[in-house]
Amino acid sequence: MLSYHTSPLAQPGVGDSGGMNVYVRELVAALAHAGVECTTYTREWRSGLPREIHVEPNHTVVHVPAGAFDLRKEELEGVVPQFTDFVLDDLRRRPADVVHANYWLSGIAGHSIKHEVGIPLVSTFHTLARVKAEGGDPEPERRERIEASIIGCADAICVSCDEEEDQFRRLYGDPPGAMEIVAPGVEHAFFTPGDRRGARQALGMGDGPVLLFVGRIQPLKGVDVAVRALAALGRPDASLYVVGGSSGADGDAYVDSVHELVNQFGLRDRVHFVPPQAHHILSSYYRAADAVWVPSRSESFGLVALEAAACGIPVVANAVGGLLSLVDHDRTGFLVADRDPELFARHTRELLDNSDRARAMGTAAAELGRRYTWSFAAARLRRLYTDVTSRSLVNCS
Ligand code: UDP
Repeated sequence: MLSYHTSPLAQPGVGDSGGMNVYVRELVAALAHAGVECTTYTREWRSGLPREIHVEPNHTVVHVPAGAFDLRKEELEGVVPQFTDFVLDDLRRRPADVVHANYWLSGIAGHSIKHEVGIPLVSTFHTLARVKAEGGDPEPERRERIEASIIGCADAICVSCDEEEDQFRRLYGDPPGAMEIVAPGVEHAFFTPGDRRGARQALGMGDGPVLLFVGRIQPLKGVDVAVRALAALGRPDASLYVVGGSSGADGDAYVDSVHELVNQFGLRDRVHFVPPQAHHILSSYYRAADAVWVPSRSESFGLVALEAAACGIPVVANAVGGLLSLVDHDRTGFLVADRDPELFARHTRELLDNSDRARAMGTAAAELGRRYTWSFAAARLRRLYTDVTSRSLVNCS
């Protein structure tokens, strides 16, 4: 498993760590439990990390020396060859049957490894340049070209849902390899419905309505929309909790602009910024909320929406990407067009003003959440690995 630019052991919800870290960590854990021997290679990103960590039976994380610790994301592509050479060397003593690359940067390494070693390449992109561009977040043209070359050689591509597959085929064409829907899961041991009052007490929250945003704070995620929605809600007793930290090159400037917006609306007492929380602790935040807001410009899947649903909390989300399959409009939450803060507010009022409706939606959301498990995702992946190792490799186009 290649997770070049960010480690599955890193704290999600800040910097470059988010859904992909959770996906790699949980999926590999489920594969390992099922008896698949997995090695995850990730770039050594700070000093003092052991070369290898045996996370659990069948799962080892290897920290690969490649470039300075504090490289910016834009500089990471330059040291992919160093990373690749290390992995190739390591594979001599620890041979692999399949290389599974996460994100386009790992895809570059995976593509070389496929050719050098002659094993199938499975690729999960998590985000794609053309999808981000459609959402208003353009990426360098170079990334698109590289993605196309990885797609042209991948023996299988994993997408998380129908919407991502449609988007993929529309923007990148039909790939020569297989395309498999491997829906991520949610850890039901943590993310289950629970007692709202208890969660609020534990977190020191009051009795008024609680709205929640969880994730990396960057323009794509739309915390500004959440602040505007709180202003539009017209409920002076309501609070917004924003759990996560700054992410990306423009993250810090964006955090400043969000604080400014909070001040402009006079909401300083009602918007609470909470630093990134350990993944399992988030379940208390979800349970404490009346609704979880996901105003992302694009989202290949949207784990936060799934975790909230699994906790029985209605989700109000922008109607894009994977969120379309994670929110059943009017049943488990609401889908909003164009990230309109007024609509976020209006739908949230529908929940706050009608507790029976909110409860029914929460029950339906929890039901939806139960459909997604990491063990099911791992089972699909195992089948896919078996398929690609028993077929001839896709010829690089
Ligand atoms: N997350 C976390 N702690 C935080 C904030 C976020 O563990 O303080 C996790 C969250 O539970 C989710 C992931 O980070 O699993 C974010 O994934 P999502 O797919 O919503 O967004 P992405 O980061 O992939 O854009």
